[in-house]
Parts: sequence; structure tokens; C-alpha cells
Amino acid sequence: MRHKRVVVLGGGISGYGSAILAKKQGFDTFLSDAGTIAPRYRERLDEWGVEYEEGRHTMELILSATEVIKSPGIPDKAPVVVALRERGIPVISEMEFACRYMGKAKTICITGSNGKTSTTSLIYKIMRDSGARVSLGGNIGESFAYSVATGEYDWYVLELSSFQLDGMIRFKADIAVLLNITPDHLDRYDYCFQNYVDSKMRITQNQNSQDYFIYSADDTTICAELSKRNVRSRELPFMAHAAVASAAGDAYLDDDGHFTASVGASIIEIDCDKMKIKGLHNAYNAMAAALAALAAGVEPSCVERSIYEFSPIEHRLEPAGVANGVTYINDSKATNVDSVWYALQSMTSPTVLIMGGTDKGSSYEPLFDLVREKVHTIVCMGLDNKRIIDSFEGVVPTIISTSSLDEAMRASVAAAREGDTVLLSPACASFDLFRNYEERGRLFKAWVKDNLLDTK
Ligand code: ADP
Repeated sequence: MRHKRVVVLGGGISGYGSAILAKKQGFDTFLSDAGTIAPRYRERLDEWGVEYEEGRHTMELILSATEVIKSPGIPDKAPVVVALRERGIPVISEMEFACRYMGKAKTICITGSNGKTSTTSLIYKIMRDSGARVSLGGNIGESFAYSVATGEYDWYVLELSSFQLDGMIRFKADIAVLLNITPDHLDRYDYCFQNYVDSKMRITQNQNSQDYFIYSADDTTICAELSKRNVRSRELPFMAHAAVASAAGDAYLDDDGHFTASVGASIIEIDCDKMKIKGLHNAYNAMAAALAALAAGVEPSCVERSIYEFSPIEHRLEPAGVANGVTYINDSKATNVDSVWYALQSMTSPTVLIMGGTDKGSSYEPLFDLVREKVHTIVCMGLDNKRIIDSFEGVVPTIISTSSLDEAMRASVAAAREGDTVLLSPACASFDLFRNYEERGRLFKAWVKDNLLDTK
């Protein structure tokens, strides 16, 4: 057999894990990162004796590969990837590589435009609470390949972005979850929505009749795709509006806020009012998670208990405190219009909405009805607030333009009356004023704590 040389492009979470797994399998392994590698990953590469370079891509060292593993952050159009493809050297993803060495373990894979992290975290909690040997990976948690190299697991719960799905050839999800498809990341898909849709639908690729496909039957894009495609796995739809029955099982949310989820003979019932996570979107996420856990064979009573226990994760409709009768909520992760729609949908009191940041060019129109119904003040927080001001003029009684967190918070406190909610749900990226959405959310919470909670 020809000597196998594995080259890994990118030394982030996916790359370092792939390189360690390749080394463990005994391949001649080399990692190349055009930027810098974080010290914690460098340490592990050193520990495992993996050769690597940073700050450049040395072509002779890369083009001698028999197979290349590319991190999802590196676009297909990057010159190094183009050069590899021209020479016919296979370029695959971490998922594709790692799945070869999983043994009998199974995967639960979650994708969608919104709700991936929330749903993945909930499924992971249910599986762990049930006593299963389970690893959390993909976009969150540990690198999937690193877990395969170093752990003993029966289940891998993986959050997958469309970029990860693009690099899959033989990889298969034993249980696949597709939450929704709304426009996002179109810049990476030649501004063609169908390309992005095709990428998301790859979650069903290679599935057979023993596998499960969990999807939102309320999502018209997903339903239209299913009518065109031949999906071989057992379908488990979840829904609040549509009526789609499936022989394998399904989940349905009724008008009283209860949902029933069943897979085969296993069935659970959940009262959404008693869940700690709120809003229609979280009911969807919980239905999807319940179906996944039941399909994996978790005891129904155990699924119910874990769902009721699950708390909101940081920056996703996360309660940030109550001061002077006003509730503060951090939804900093809401960086697109659809996620703000769901945040507003879940509001039960008059709302001051803090939004703005780096505009993504989407139309704000889908928010108009809910803003009219629930929001009395929009506080814009960004360096350029013009598009928001122009869009919401006449839709909401008061719009205040601010250009810092401190200014935005003072304006919000002044605008909020007792019983109101101040909701940070920006619909925009954070890069004009903050390093990322996490920093934006943390500073919001810190401001509330320091200026409103600690002073009493
Ligand atoms: P992702 O990992 O797909 O970005 P998150 O779970 O981090 O998703 O949530 C991102 C944002 O979307 C948050 O503001 C959250 O409140 C909102 N969200 C969560 N689940 C859904 C859903 N099913 N549909 C629409 N929005 C959602």
C-alpha cells in the first residue's frame, strides 16, 4: 500500500483534533495554519508529536499529501484548496475523517439556521442524564475527531453548520435533526438560497431505513425539499401548525402549550409553561430534542425530567435580572431577523428592544407586526443606525439612536416602565462595538448587575 500522508489545513478546534486522530492512526501527519495556532492546541499537538507550521502554507509540504482534511472555516476558493483540487488530492472534512474510526458508536447530528446550539445542548443533557456514554462536539464542545481519538463513547451529539455538511462524502447521521432553513451565510453560497438549502439537506445524505430524520413540518422550505427528494430514513416530523402524521412517530404542540412526542411505543407529554426555556422556538427545539432522545432509546420519564430541568444557555433569551419591576433579557446571540422574531414572539409584557450593530442587509419587515404589538421603544445600539431608524419609522412610537452600550442602557432604563421587559436582541452582528456576540451579552449583563442590581 502507498504510504499515507495526511495534511490538515487549519489549526483550530477541528484541525488539531483531526491531526491528533491521524497521528494516532499511525499516518504521516502534518498540520498547516496560515494564521496563528492557539497555545492550548499547540500544546496538545506537541504532546502527540504532530508536525505543524503556522503563519504560512508551505506548498511542497501540503501538495505531497495523499489526503487533506480542511477545517470548515477555510473556503473552497482559498488558493491552497484550489491547488489541491487541481491535482486531484482528496480534500475532506473532520467529520468525514473521524467517522471512519468511530467503531460501533452512533451519531445524533443537529443542523438548521437557528437553534442548533440550544437543541444540541438539550439533547446532550438528556443523553448524559440517562447514563449514556456521550460526547458533545461539532461546532460546540470538544473536537469530534479528538473525542474519537481519546474517548470511549457510544454516542456523539454533533452540532453541524452548513460548512461542515459540505465536506461530507460517506459520513452518515444515525439520527439527523433539521430545525429550520432561513436565509443566512449567503455570501458563502454565491448568493443563491438554493445552494444553502442543498447544503442543509445533506444532513440526510447516506441515511438508510434504520436511521431517523427529525425535521420541522412547519418549515415550508424543508417540506418543499422533501417532496422533491427520496429520503430513505424514518421520518419524525415536529410541528405546531401543520398536520403531518408519520408511521415512525412525531411531535405536536397544541394550542394549550402542551406537546406530545412519540417514537414507536415510547411517548412523552410536556407542558411548555413548566419548561425553563420559553417561547415557540424553544418548544420546537424541545420537540426535536425529545424525538431524538426517544429515537436513541432513552426512557420516556428520563426525557421528560431532563427537558423540565434544562435552563436557557448563555446569550439565548437568558434572564439577566429584574430591577424596579423591569425584567432584563440577554438574547445577544440573535444576530439575524428570524431569531429576533422568535424572541419577540415569546415576550409577554411591553418591551423595550435594544437592537443594531453591523447590519447584514436583510429586510426588517418580518418583524413589523410583532414590533407593533409588543414594542413601545426601540433603542438602536450601533455606529450606524440609519437602516434601523428608516425601517421602523412609523412602526414603533419611539426610536432612540445610541452609539455605545452605556448610552443604550441608560436610554432603555429611562424608557422602561414597571412591568416592562428590556430585551437585547440585536438582529445584527456585533463587530462595530464589540469583539463578538458573547462580549456584547456579557457587558449587557454586567451593566445590569453593576448599575441596577448591586445598588439596591
Ligand atoms: P445557532 O446555534 O443555530 O446559532 P442558537 O441556539 O445559538 O442557534 O440560537 C441562536 C438565536 O436564535 C438565539 O437568539 C435564540 O434565541 C434563537 N433561536 C433558538 N432556537 C430557535 C429556533 N428554533 N428558531 C428560531 N430562532 C431560534
